[in-house]
Amino acid sequence: MSFIKENFSEVVERIEKSAEKSGRKCEDVRLVTVTKTIDTERIKEAISAGATILGENRVQEILEKYDELSALAKFHLIGHLQKNKVKYIIGKVELIHSVESLSLASEIDKKAKKEGIVQKILIEVNVSGEESKFGIKPCDAEEFVREASKYENVKIEGLMTVAPFDANEDELRAVFKGLRELAERIDGLNIDRVSMKELSMGMTGDYELAIEEGATMVRVGTGIFGKRDYSK
Ligand SMILES: *Cc1c(COP(=O)(O)O)cnc(C)c1O
Repeated sequence: MSFIKENFSEVVERIEKSAEKSGRKCEDVRLVTVTKTIDTERIKEAISAGATILGENRVQEILEKYDELSALAKFHLIGHLQKNKVKYIIGKVELIHSVESLSLASEIDKKAKKEGIVQKILIEVNVSGEESKFGIKPCDAEEFVREASKYENVKIEGLMTVAPFDANEDELRAVFKGLRELAERIDGLNIDRVSMKELSMGMTGDYELAIEEGATMVRVGTGIFGKRDYSK
């Protein structure tokens, strides 16, 4: 068995264990296989091991891989999205995890309307407050969701966060719990057309903790493909 298949199976097993530990079913947690910098041959190995969702952080890479892979798996955009690139990916990605400005939401709405589709999105929240991170502030989330919910060709499905890389377990749990509690609070407001069912949180180093704290989607790259080579 190739190391990609082996790694993939191990990640799936660990997801199942963590889901069980947190009293949930394994189908309540979806694995986003993060394929940035990974070539299509290796991605196909992951797909044959069971990957159904591919997470990319650059529009250009999605476009390069789209024709070869779109019949085999769904694409999710998980990285920062520039407004001028929205037009290239509408209709090509099932979910955009990283919406963090109203002007971006508005542009997605416009282009989705043009295509006659409703684009599913998550709102990226900077729970940890690190300056280097994208995402809105937790205290702005309620107002943001209220405003973004008015765009008819955008459907808000939940929240996403990226935890600090160097945090210890307690800090990580606090970040993940913070996102979950924020989603619960917004859910309680019963804003029209807004769902808070998805929590996209947890990466290779911390996805098990994230699941224990309520993640419904984890984004794992290195744990499946090994260290990325950004030089190519
Ligand atoms: C690259 C990336 C991941 C995956 O990171 P790994 O540590 O390789 O699992 C997850 N989320 C986002 C937003 C990313 O850019």
